Amino acid sequence: MDLGITGKRALVCASSKGLGRGCAEALAEAGVDLVINARSEGPLQETAQALRDTYGVEVTAVAADITTEEGRAQVLKAAGDVDILVNNAGGPPPGMWTDWEREDFIKALDANMLTPIALIKALVPGMMDRGWGRVVNITSQSVKSPIAVLGLSNSARAGLTGYVAGTSRQVAGKGVVMNNLLPGIHATDRATSLDTGVAEKEGITLEEAAAQRAAGIPAGRYGTAQEFGATCAFLCSQYAGYMIGQNVLLDGGALNATM
Ligand code: NAP
Repeated sequence: MDLGITGKRALVCASSKGLGRGCAEALAEAGVDLVINARSEGPLQETAQALRDTYGVEVTAVAADITTEEGRAQVLKAAGDVDILVNNAGGPPPGMWTDWEREDFIKALDANMLTPIALIKALVPGMMDRGWGRVVNITSQSVKSPIAVLGLSNSARAGLTGYVAGTSRQVAGKGVVMNNLLPGIHATDRATSLDTGVAEKEGITLEEAAAQRAAGIPAGRYGTAQEFGATCAFLCSQYAGYMIGQNVLLDGGALNATM
């Protein structure tokens, strides 16, 4: 299917691996030129080269921490005018509600709420001026169904969701389509690191911890970055123009709800 976005330019944050990379791959496959980002230079450059070689699109790689003001300035300078913004960053660590202090919340809010908001504020006015834009925020299933040990994530992402709900409706009239993409469990380093914590706590192997978690998902497995990226590319396509401020859940049916 031709998504109608060949020749557009996208900034995909936190995209050397995992879900961000899945989004970058799917956009590249649709003919979109990319600015990709991650903190570690090596894996980022490898991903950039793989995308160029496979899809023949232009890829600019910026090694920077997107959750810092300096990192964002570096990325924005390299990105210039983009048509598509995919917001992403690493998620906050798991823990216990009694342990989190103000500073832990500030860090989580900075990374997973205020960083996407800052990038939206920097890039959406240009999209509105040009009459076309797409923003996809990678949030989490925890926005719809809390994951107790991820209270920092639950809080920060719920805040971003509220912001997007209102803002998406303020910019829609200028051709900018903004939505959130909510991953359930996907097979990435993040999932492995969370499973490792469970395995250590319960004295079981990593494989047993993953099988235990997969058994609770109606699809019976973890999602893939490729499936996730394909949905992201659709939300960035010409066909998503009437989807405004939605929260698209990709969780293999894990959330047991009618709507
Ligand atoms: P991942 O496999 O750990 O990949 C994270 C990617 O982001 C890497 O490329 C990493 O590269 C980059 N990154 C992390 N922090 C960054 C920062 N501060 N600045 C720039 N780049 C950064 O994670 P993932 O599973 O794809 O998850 C992506 C997001 O979805 C996270 O917020 C996660 O909490 C959320 N999520 C994931 C799942 C899941 O099952 N995978 C479920 C729900 C929500 P560097 O380390 O080199 O920076």
